[in-house]
Amino acid sequence: DTIGQALAEAARRWPDQEAVVSVHQAIRWTWRDLDGHSTAMAAGLLALGLEPGDRIGIWSPNKAQWSLTQFAAARAGLILVTINPAYRLSEVEYTLNKVGVKALVAAESFKTSLYADMIDSLAPEIASSQPGQIVSARLPQLKTVIQIGGDLRSGWLPFEAVPGLSATADMLRLAAIEPTLKATDPINIQFTSGTTGLPKGATLSHRNILNNGFFVGEAIGLMAGDRLCLPVPLYHCFGMVMGNLGCLTHGAAMVYPSDGFDPVAVLEAVQAERCTGLFGVPTMFIATLGHPDFDTYDLSSLRTGCMAGSPCPVEVMKQVIGRMHMSGVTIAYGMTETSPVSFQSAQDDPMDRRVGTVGRVQPHLECKVVDLEGNTLPRGETGELCTRGYSVMLGYWDDAEKTAEAIDADGWMHTGDLAVIDAAGYGNIVGRIKDMVIRGGEKVYPREVEEYLYRHPKIEDVTVVGVPDPRFGEELCAWIRLRPGETATEAEVTDFCRGQIAHYKIPRYVRFVDAFPMTVTGKVQKFLIRDQMIAELG
Ligand code: ATP
Ligand code: MG
Repeated sequence: DTIGQALAEAARRWPDQEAVVSVHQAIRWTWRDLDGHSTAMAAGLLALGLEPGDRIGIWSPNKAQWSLTQFAAARAGLILVTINPAYRLSEVEYTLNKVGVKALVAAESFKTSLYADMIDSLAPEIASSQPGQIVSARLPQLKTVIQIGGDLRSGWLPFEAVPGLSATADMLRLAAIEPTLKATDPINIQFTSGTTGLPKGATLSHRNILNNGFFVGEAIGLMAGDRLCLPVPLYHCFGMVMGNLGCLTHGAAMVYPSDGFDPVAVLEAVQAERCTGLFGVPTMFIATLGHPDFDTYDLSSLRTGCMAGSPCPVEVMKQVIGRMHMSGVTIAYGMTETSPVSFQSAQDDPMDRRVGTVGRVQPHLECKVVDLEGNTLPRGETGELCTRGYSVMLGYWDDAEKTAEAIDADGWMHTGDLAVIDAAGYGNIVGRIKDMVIRGGEKVYPREVEEYLYRHPKIEDVTVVGVPDPRFGEELCAWIRLRPGETATEAEVTDFCRGQIAHYKIPRYVRFVDAFPMTVTGKVQKFLIRDQMIAELG
C-alpha cells in the first residue's frame, strides 16, 4: 500500500475515532477529518505548482499541521523532508539546498527561536514575492514558504489558506496522481539524529515506513481506539513512523502533549486524554519518572508503549512497567536508515528478555553479526550488526558514496552498532563501534558501566565515554546527573564500583553535571563530552 491508500482505509474503518489530538493546540481530528483535510491540502499543494517527486520541507515542532503535511505530501507523491527543530541558519540553508526543497512549511517560531526570521534572513526576496514564484539567491530552489502560526509574514502563505488554493482541476489531478503512486516510490527524506556527527538524509519509501509502523504497532499490541502519547519529535522516525504510522495502521489516536518535550505536559496529557500508550527515548522516561509531582498524576490508563533510540536501562524499564502501569511496554532498536526498527521485544517475551534485550529481529527482516573483516560470527559473539529486508532505505539522498559504505552489494545495512544475539535470537546492543573504549588493551563497552552505575540510588542519569590517556591509551570518564537535592563525591562513585566491576571498567574521571549535550531526539552526544574532557584535561 501507499500511505494515501492506508489513510483512505483508516477513514473507512474508523471514521469517527480520533486520529490527531494536539493537546497544546486544542485540535482534535477524526480519521474522516484527517482524510478530508489531507486531500484538500494535497490539492492545494498541487495548485502551488508542486509535482510528484518534488521535495517539500517541514520545519516545525510537534503540531497537528505537521502530521497533516505528512499525509498531504504522501497523497500528492511529494517527498517530505523533515527538518530538525533545533537547526539554525547554516544547517537549514545546507539542508534545504542539499535536497532541493521547493516548498517549505515552517512554524513561525519554536521556543525562543524565530524560524520565520531565519528564513527571511536567508531569503529576503520572499517579502516581495508571490507564493510559488520566489527567486532567492541563497535558496535557489525554494519557490514557496508556508507559515504555521504567528503574525503572517510578507510573502508567506498561511497554512490554513493552502487548501483553498485548489480548483476543480487540482482535485482531478490529485485523483489522477494517487493511483499512479507506487509503494516503492521515495516519500521521505529523514535525517539521522546527529549523535555521532553531521546528520545524514535517508531516503525512504512508502513500503519502508508504512510496514515498519505496522510491525511496531503489532509488537506493542496497539488496537483501534488506543491513544498514543507522543512526546517524541515528529521530525524523527520515532515520531513520524513508529508513532504516526503505527497509529495509522491500527486506528489509534496520535496524541501530542506539547511542542517540545516537557515531562509535566506528558503527565497531564496521559491523565487528561486517558492515553493507553506512551513512546519515549530513555531520557524522556527518566525525566518523567523523576518529576517531583509524578505521584500526583493518575496514569492508570496506560497499558503499553515503546522505549527506543538509545540503550534502555533495565532499572528504568522496571519502573516504567511498575510505576507507569505499562505492562505491555517493549524495547525497540533501529536506525533512521532502516525505517527505523529492526529489533523489538514482544509482549509475550519472558520478563528478563523484555527488560534486558532489544528483542528479536522483526518479521520479514534478516540479521547477522559480523567481525571487522565481514565474516559472520556464531551466536553469542559480539560484532557489528547487519540487517537486510524491506526496511532498508533506498539510500542517502544524493550521496552514492556514503550509501555504498552503509549498504553492501548484497543489500546488508551495516549499522555501526555492536551487538550479540543469543541462541534464542534475542539481541543485545552492546554499544556503537565508535564509542567502544580500549583501556590498556581491554575492551570496555561504556553501556555496561552505565548500567551498573544506574543502580546507585543517588544517580539519576549517567553517561560514560573514553578519553585519551598517554599510559592506557584511553581512560573511562563518567558524567553523572544526581537526583534532585543529592550531593556526592567522586570517591563515593568509584567506591561503589570497587569489587563489583572489573578494575579497568571503573571510571578514572567522574564529573557531576546538570545536563548532558543532547540531540533533539534526546540522545547524548558523547563526542561533545569527549571534546570537552580533552579540553579540560589538556
Ligand atoms: P547519527 O547517525 O546522525 O550519528 P543516530 O545514529 O543517533 O545519529 P538515529 O538513526 O536516530 O541517529 O539512531 C540510530 C542509532 O540509535 C542506532 O544506530 C543505535 O546506536 C541507537 N539505538 C537505537 N535504539 C537503540 C536501543 N534500543 N538500544 C541501544 N541503542 C539504540
Ligand atoms: Mg546513525
